[in-house]
Amino acid sequence: MSLDSSTLFLVATLICTLLGGMLLHFGRQEKIPALYWWGCAYLIGAASVAQWQILGAFLPENVVLSLAGVGFIACGMMWNAARVFHGHKPNWPGLVLGAIAWVAAVVSLPPELSWLRMNIGAGLVAIYAGLTASELFAERRKSMTRRWPAMLVPLLHGGVLMLPIVLAELLPAQGTSSTNNVWIMIFAIELVLYAIGTVFVIFMLVSERTVRAHKTAASLDPLTGLFNRRGFSEATGRMIEREAEAGRPVTVMIFDLDHFKSINDRFGHPAGDEVIKLFATIVSGSLRMSDLCGRIGGEEFAALLPCSIEEAMTAAERVREAFEGCGLEVDGAPIATTVSIGVAGGPANIELEVLLAAADTALYQAKRGGRNRVVATAEQPLSLEQGRRRAAQREEPRQPVIVRSAMSIGA
Ligand code: GH3
Ligand code: MG
Ligand code: MG
Repeated sequence: MSLDSSTLFLVATLICTLLGGMLLHFGRQEKIPALYWWGCAYLIGAASVAQWQILGAFLPENVVLSLAGVGFIACGMMWNAARVFHGHKPNWPGLVLGAIAWVAAVVSLPPELSWLRMNIGAGLVAIYAGLTASELFAERRKSMTRRWPAMLVPLLHGGVLMLPIVLAELLPAQGTSSTNNVWIMIFAIELVLYAIGTVFVIFMLVSERTVRAHKTAASLDPLTGLFNRRGFSEATGRMIEREAEAGRPVTVMIFDLDHFKSINDRFGHPAGDEVIKLFATIVSGSLRMSDLCGRIGGEEFAALLPCSIEEAMTAAERVREAFEGCGLEVDGAPIATTVSIGVAGGPANIELEVLLAAADTALYQAKRGGRNRVVATAEQPLSLEQGRRRAAQREEPRQPVIVRSAMSIGA
């Protein structure tokens, strides 16, 4: 099978144009700035290859080669797209530096050193590919899935382009036009594969981020920004497991705003919402970074603390005092803001449901006791397993039932 490099570059140009247009379209649709960068990189890359192929027949070689410097801007845009995707600012000097270095090499090197020029070009592309891969590598911990396929594509791209330099010692015919033609053919095929592979990577990254955003939104309460019930139970599940492994106790608190219905009735629902937001700020500000808190109902909140019940009682009292003393006013009129808090602590491997149920009982006692207070469970609740064992122990051993036959009774 014989391959014509011009045909291959034509295919690469068409594919890059098509993919560039598609990326720009999705960028506009999904409002993702990085997709604009990627889309423009593809279109500029396609234009650079096209001008090289078309103008090569009419213009002097040095002019065509200098114009090919635009291709390095496309490489710089690929790298900057990865930066922008991860929320970093574009690196403008880095964007143009490759093109400047390339034009300088074209202008300063004599024609007989064309192989060196080619190596410099390949080296520059490899540097940009390496920068792109390192950008993706630096962000790997924020990612849900492993990032290795995303890093592999630019690394392979850079690796293939570096091959002529690495193999220079092994290929003595380096610099002859037939060797250069083979490399140009390899680069053309690699360009097509890289363009397609990168689009796969881009869509993988975008879809991964979309899934993560939806997952986060599904676990957060939009009014307060705290965890909702689902997010709270997921996050606390992980914390309980971690603390259980370390053999440390955990404590749960349930907060219920006092007479909240009356706040709504007197000042309106929006004012009630403001009180809920204020309480969320107070509770998250009064607890430690390592504590978890969430809004588990209308005016009910919960927190899980990786500490003993005694320590948690101090934290609960701090929240109660802060809310009572927040000095909230609506239209110049002060609003009494108080909260009742139920606290329950448990051994290392206790289930969240058990703790929540125990804290709820304590909360009920706080309400019955006059509100605006912190009440802890009298007894440490048992885990489900301990509860089952305790219940089994309490059961009386059954007496064997002796059935006598009528005959034996009569005997
Ligand atoms: P208690 O001291 O016994 O807890 O009395 P309470 O009035 O706080 O409790 P109750 O359960 O009677 O009322 C809770 C009120 O919370 C009723 C409901 O309309 C209100 N509520 C629930 N969710 C929201 C919300 O998102 N915003 C506002 N503004 N009000 C809410
Ligand atoms: Mg309530
Ligand atoms: Mg209430």
